[in-house]
Amino acid sequence: MSSKGMLIVLSGPSGVGKGTVRQAMLEKSSVQFDYSISMTTRNMRPGEQDGVDYYFRTKEEFENEIKNDGMLEYANYVGNYYGTPLKYVNEKLEAGIDVLLEIEVNGAMQVREKMPDGVYIFLTPPDLSSLRNRITGRGTDDSATIDRRMETAKSEIEMMKHYDYAVVNDEIPLAVEKIEEIIRSEHLRVPRVIDKYKKIIGDN
Ligand code: 5GP
Repeated sequence: MSSKGMLIVLSGPSGVGKGTVRQAMLEKSSVQFDYSISMTTRNMRPGEQDGVDYYFRTKEEFENEIKNDGMLEYANYVGNYYGTPLKYVNEKLEAGIDVLLEIEVNGAMQVREKMPDGVYIFLTPPDLSSLRNRITGRGTDDSATIDRRMETAKSEIEMMKHYDYAVVNDEIPLAVEKIEEIIRSEHLRVPRVIDKYKKIIGDN
């Protein structure tokens, strides 16, 4: 177990700023990890690139991946599929590299079932009005979609109890710092390091 990479799952309601925190982690974090690019059937937003922000696929292509057991998890979120390709995650973990997923809560619960020794981090908004402001401020969704995202967000916050850590995203650099602390501490947990000490303590 000690030589394998650690799976880090960053989750929480839509609009809480998971994408921004993930980006800040990729750019500034002093901890090393690879990011697993998700697959989705939603339309590309301006400025997004296929293979960078997501693998943008048709519904048929996505359903084929599901059929071929190619997804670690997937969810139908606000009318579109989102999911994590399994192969990339397995390869990185086997190579001893930590992998970060940034996914919504239903997908995170599926991963938790399959990979219980991952680290599950729930990003929370300071309050619901700041969440609405953030979703509205993005300017990419119409009002019906915003309402659906808010309703989804409320039930998502209830899911916090299934996670290991809760990090408030009021200021991005602070959230990044907290996530780094979590990752560093998790690497020191005895079940993750004990194999390295087996020689000293004897194998019995
Ligand atoms: P957006 O459309 O704003 O990019 O993402 C909508 C939601 O889908 C966000 O909460 C985002 O974290 C989540 N998401 C992105 N990738 C995945 C994935 O691979 N699996 C799951 N389950 N959710 C994802």
